[in-house]
Amino acid sequence: MSQQEPIETDIIIIGAGPVGLFTVFEAGLLKLRCHLIDALPQPGGQLTEIYPKKPIYDIPGFPDILAGDLINNLMQQAQPFKPGFTLGERAESIETIENNRFKVTTDMGTVHIAPNIAIAGGLGCFEPRKPPIQNIKDFENKGIDYIIKDPEKFRNKKVVIAGGGDSALDWTIFLKDVAAEVTIIHRRTQFRGHPDSVQKVMDMDASGAIQLIVNSEVTHLKGDTDNQHLTSVGIATDGIEDLRWLDCDYFLPLFGLSPKLGPIADWGLNIDKAAIEVNTFDYSTNVPGIYAIGDAITGPMLAHKAEDEGMAVAEILAGQAGHVNYDVIPGVIYTHPEVATVGQTEEQLKEAGRAYKAGKFSFMGNGRAKANFAADGFVKILADATTDRILGAHIIGPMAGDLIHEVCVAMEFGAAAEDLARTCHAHPTYSEAVREAALACGDGAIHS
Ligand SMILES: Cc1cc2nc3c(=O)[nH]c(=O)nc-3n(C[C@H](O)[C@H](O)[C@H](O)COP(=O)(O)OP(=O)(O)OC[C@H]3O[C@@H](n4cnc5c(N)ncnc54)[C@H](O)[C@@H]3O)c2cc1C
Repeated sequence: MSQQEPIETDIIIIGAGPVGLFTVFEAGLLKLRCHLIDALPQPGGQLTEIYPKKPIYDIPGFPDILAGDLINNLMQQAQPFKPGFTLGERAESIETIENNRFKVTTDMGTVHIAPNIAIAGGLGCFEPRKPPIQNIKDFENKGIDYIIKDPEKFRNKKVVIAGGGDSALDWTIFLKDVAAEVTIIHRRTQFRGHPDSVQKVMDMDASGAIQLIVNSEVTHLKGDTDNQHLTSVGIATDGIEDLRWLDCDYFLPLFGLSPKLGPIADWGLNIDKAAIEVNTFDYSTNVPGIYAIGDAITGPMLAHKAEDEGMAVAEILAGQAGHVNYDVIPGVIYTHPEVATVGQTEEQLKEAGRAYKAGKFSFMGNGRAKANFAADGFVKILADATTDRILGAHIIGPMAGDLIHEVCVAMEFGAAAEDLARTCHAHPTYSEAVREAALACGDGAIHS
């Protein structure tokens, strides 16, 4: 149990993913102090844990940015407001105490006190997928690790790794130069990891630098006296329990992480299909004083939607008017050509029985697209049949992920298709295709 004094703050944020970090910044601007709790040993949520090297294209101000770099930037942005962090600990229990405050205690016994809680817990705590070995719990932290925090721990030790994905392959390659012996065991002969990593592991096996055992699984574990530490693993090949025993100091089952809402599910909050129910007017849950945002609630699981909710909840807690317009959340698919969408589709409008008009314009009629040999695709704008108000837009084509935002701004202002059609657009630009689609909702496009 932790012996330290309780940590007191204005908002306890559960989850140090992008939403939690952005909430710190917004709350800081409004003079509210925040303390973040995260079960992972580092901040960043899914971005640092699952895809730190993946480029993200929908962050304002960056044409593209690696997920890990975005988290570094969010940390720098939050830093002037001096947020507190409790990392590597899971928020476990909650209690209401005097003066309408909450006491949140972690699995390590650290106590936090605040009048408000913002749950930015995403899909939940990332927990390792464990192999079904009967006595596996006996050796957790006594020779079995599911997450590698400090590779130095394995220096000059005998290590057995299980798994066929990038994590298992990457750590095999890395630990070859650290550990005394590395063995990787995989259930199949095909691997899920990057072909280059698979080849490296095959070559290392061929040269004797590591040992690769395929079509096999670790099914049994043995320890020293009183099971104080793991000493060997029992391996079954081709599903036959004719065990082959291998001496080892550490066994690392690296089968990935899966998110679980975990203890938050027992906090008396209304939950529908793993999503915490909130009133999206103010992000309040059914428990007064507890708010939830981001992937933890319903709606598209997108970082930009989640960050807007972080901004809104910080403003609401500071007594201001925060708001997210869920009718205008853009979605982008970064293919070639790009696909971007906002608002309603024709199918949704038909289903709702709403009379609409559709204005469509092909990039074949757009000068800049033709000059750039990028004329595949079109812009479609959907508008109310009577009022002409824009209800949705769908774009396939060059820079679709950027062009969509002209329509988003128009929708935020409740614009009619005619408003876009009458707006002067520079020539030659891709954005002229948006104007032409808006014109097609009325008297017709000029260049079709
Ligand atoms: C492969 C992949 C690619 C993606 N690419 C994009 C993209 O290009 N653009 C985009 O907009 N979105 C993308 N997303 C979605 C985006 O990552 C999520 O929308 C975003 O991470 C949600 O942020 P969050 O802060 O709500 O949750 P998370 O990032 O999930 O963070 C939640 C944090 O809360 C912690 N936590 C939960 N419960 C507890 C507890 N009880 N105690 C302590 N800690 C707890 C978790 O450990 C976690 O660190 C992608 C997702 C994936 C998986």
